[in-house]
Amino acid sequence: PPVLRLDGLRKAYGVGTPLEVEVLHGIDLTLQGGEFAALIGPSGSGKSTLLNLIGLLDTPTRGEIHVQGRPTVDLNDTERTALRGRSLGFVFQFHHLINAFSVIDNVMMPALLGGAKPDAATRERALELLDAVGLAMHAHKRPTELSGGQQQRVAIARALMIRPPILLADEPTGNLDSRAADEVFALFRRFNQSFGCAVLLVTHDPRIAARCDRVLEMLDGRLVADRAQTAQA
Ligand code: ADP
Ligand code: ADP
Repeated sequence: PPVLRLDGLRKAYGVGTPLEVEVLHGIDLTLQGGEFAALIGPSGSGKSTLLNLIGLLDTPTRGEIHVQGRPTVDLNDTERTALRGRSLGFVFQFHHLINAFSVIDNVMMPALLGGAKPDAATRERALELLDAVGLAMHAHKRPTELSGGQQQRVAIARALMIRPPILLADEPTGNLDSRAADEVFALFRRFNQSFGCAVLLVTHDPRIAARCDRVLEMLDGRLVADRAQTAQA
């Protein structure tokens, strides 16, 4: 099955109040394993809402979300959290690293939350990922000792700790200068190719969207375009 399938997804906020407003009006979408897609569209078009639904951080008002062939809408919180911990990696614009912990402890966190022991094998995998993002030498620093681009690379290493088949990224390069943005983007591409994880990346940056294999465009809560393209180098 595809890694992700959305059927008739609708989302309203403020349900049951006078301010109820539907912001996603029936989204259908299939993402195959290993696909590399950009999600674009103006501010307020529903990109973050859609990403939060796909990430099982929020539930739709109508419709179904299949993750690796499994329907998710009727899962309880425990099941949803478990599935998220097995299947989904997240990278956000503001990376949510925890400064009380070292860089390597931040990277290990998703595995520990999933029940892994903080043993040598877990630590070794975290260090390999930090090495892959070029930051092994900073493993024992605190996140705030690193630059914004470096912090975002730590967040990518953290997201990959569980080997997710789906990697979701919400404006991961949004607050980076163009050089740091290019480095971060190159990492998504590299991990997409080496681990085969599907990537869905929300971006406002046309340069970034041009380098993805597929571009999904939202407008006013609807998917209005879905095009395959040859990624620019
Ligand atoms: P985008 O990520 O494309 O900027 P969002 O998903 O953030 O779009 O927002 C889509 C629409 O939903 C916007 O009109 C926004 O104001 C509205 N919205 C987002 N979150 C909430 C919320 N918690 N309550 C009410 N409306 C919301
Ligand atoms: P954005 O840059 O898209 O505005 P936010 O910082 O608002 O990103 O985070 C988007 C959503 O993801 C929020 O609802 C937040 O609670 C949730 N979130 C952020 N980090 C994590 C995480 N590591 N695990 C689970 N949910 C998270």
